[in-house]
Parts: sequence; C-alpha cells; structure tokens
Amino acid sequence: MLTKKVTRIAIERIMKMYPNAVPSLDARTPFQKVVSVLLSAQATDVSVNKATPALFARFPDPATLAVATPAEVEPYIKTIGLYHNKAKYLVALGQKLTHDFAGVVPNTRAELVTLPGVGRKSANVVLGDAFGVPAFAVDTHVTRISKRLTIAAANDSVRQIETRITTALPEDEWIHGHHAMIYFGREVCHAKKPECAHCPLLDLCPFGQNYLAMNG
Ligand code: SF4
Repeated sequence: MLTKKVTRIAIERIMKMYPNAVPSLDARTPFQKVVSVLLSAQATDVSVNKATPALFARFPDPATLAVATPAEVEPYIKTIGLYHNKAKYLVALGQKLTHDFAGVVPNTRAELVTLPGVGRKSANVVLGDAFGVPAFAVDTHVTRISKRLTIAAANDSVRQIETRITTALPEDEWIHGHHAMIYFGREVCHAKKPECAHCPLLDLCPFGQNYLAMNG
C-alpha cells in the first residue's frame, strides 16, 4: 500500500498530466447537473450529453418534472441505458425537489443523498461540479486506478477508497484530482490493455510493473 505521502505524489502526477481536466457531463445549473449525473449511471457521458438538451428544453426545472409522468419523460432519454427506471427517478426527483426543497437543489451531502437516485458518489459529483464544494467522487476509473497503484487495498470499498484519497490529498485538490483520474483512466490506465509502458506512474505501480513483465 502506498503511504499518504506517496498517494499524494501519485495523484498530483496525474493532475499534472491533465491540468485542465473538466467535467464531461454538460450542465449549466445544479438541477441540470443532478439530472445528468442520475442519467449517467451505467451509461456513457456522451450518450447523456446527446439526450439532455431536448430533455432540459421540455423539462427545464424540478416543477415541470414533478407534474410529468414517466411515460412522458421516457422518449427524451430512451437512447440511454436503463431509461425506464431513470424516467421514474427523474419524476420522483422533480417531486422531491419541488415539495421538500422549494425547487432548489441542496448543497450539502446529507440533503443530496435524500434525493431519489442520488447516492454518495453522485452527491459528491454534484457538490464538486455544481457548487465548488470540496468532495471526491469515487467512480469505476478511480477505483481501478487506486487498486492498481495500491492507493487502496484490493478489497477496499468505494467509501474506503474515498477516505484514503481525501486523507492523503489536500481538500483544494479533490475536485481536480477526481476529474484528472477519470481522464487518466480513459486515456492511459484502461480497464483492458493499460498503457503501462508509457505511463508516468510506472515506477510507483506494482500492477503496471507486473503487467509489463508478463506481457513484454
Ligand atoms: Fe495504470 Fe499501468 Fe500506469 Fe499502473 S503503470 S497506473 S496500471 S497505466
């Protein structure tokens, strides 16, 4: 396992590779962000970005979603995986925001996780991207990279990975660190055939060193 000090060095190296890493989900408001994040579960950000302009034109705020039926929402998101369930969540989200939060997306994790379809990871994304509140969201890329680099143990939970990273990295680097790790996971540390031979973190990475020894 990497120490906190080396964990910070590793993630800051990734941040240097992607100094301009930004969110890949298009959203101009906290409402659009929370909807986009909900839609992105088990779907690509590209597919979500293609669907949301028409969705937001028809349902621009929580109040319009609150009075819709899932069947009215489905046509706007049917190109996205699990659209049937997601349409139900969106209507429930609109109702919850309208009735319990006066139509305003809350900016605390404790409140965000009470919204339908919003778990801790999604809440962290909304906090960081929509409100600039320091939060570190652990997704599939962060999980894979953390375990390969031994920032985390092989059997660590998502919550444990979040704790390991947030106790090693200064708070003001959490949001950028999260986005940089996603870029790195997409472009270098792929799930299949990672680019270990060209990776600037190879000297810190037991997985990469072993992978190259086995695969030349
Ligand atoms: Fe990922 Fe390979 Fe780099 Fe390790 S050396 S972080 S496995 S790309």
